Amino acid sequence: MKEHLKNLILLQTCDNRIKTIQTKRDFIPERIKRLEESFEEKSRIFNSRLEKLDSLEKEKRAVEKEIQVIESRAQKGQEKLNNIKSNKEYTAALKEIEDIEKERTKQEDILLQVMETIEELKKECIEIKVEKENLRNEFDAEKKEIEEELLELNEESEGLMKQRAEYNCAVDSKILKTYDLLRARRAGVAVSAVVGGICQACHLEIPPQKFNELQRCNEMMSCPHCNRLLYWGEDEFFINLLNNDGV
Ligand SMILES: [Zn+2]
Repeated sequence: MKEHLKNLILLQTCDNRIKTIQTKRDFIPERIKRLEESFEEKSRIFNSRLEKLDSLEKEKRAVEKEIQVIESRAQKGQEKLNNIKSNKEYTAALKEIEDIEKERTKQEDILLQVMETIEELKKECIEIKVEKENLRNEFDAEKKEIEEELLELNEESEGLMKQRAEYNCAVDSKILKTYDLLRARRAGVAVSAVVGGICQACHLEIPPQKFNELQRCNEMMSCPHCNRLLYWGEDEFFINLLNNDGV
């Protein structure tokens, strides 16, 4: 009976690993998607800064134009001042020049502020560009890693499928039918160890008499609660079997 159980346990170990591999493989597109999303997010931030930079440059040009207009007005005002005869006219022209100068100061302040913001934004753009490039490199490296991992997983999976076929042949066909049925209905786990009288799959206690029978290992037994096929997990034979298999 132990030999029967041995092949069954090895089959279950194989199937567990295949399931783990499948879960990992299923998650790969999601991992790649997450990477792409974080890169796209960085690109979006970068592009929005570039747009802002562009509109600030436009604003800068507009203010510079405005200052040019003010300067020519100031020049005209000065010329007017030089040709004035009466005191009254002189006072009015002086006031006009004063107003123009105020306006010039105001526009120059605006220009200065715009130029400062442009400088800051340019620095920010350089930083984001570097971050974007770093992210791109990380993305490429990680994608490569994932692809390699996928190759390894596929390779391992192939080996496991072959191994599985061998165990499949070694298990009695009637037991195999039960195994497949249980695996389909019990989240992929058809065989369970019993440790200290407790089924390790459903965590319920096996009646003492059944537990005694299980320890003797004369026949195939099922958990009275979850129906899974059972073996005594504290038996040296099974402990060694699982240790040798690296499980
Ligand atoms: Zn159970």
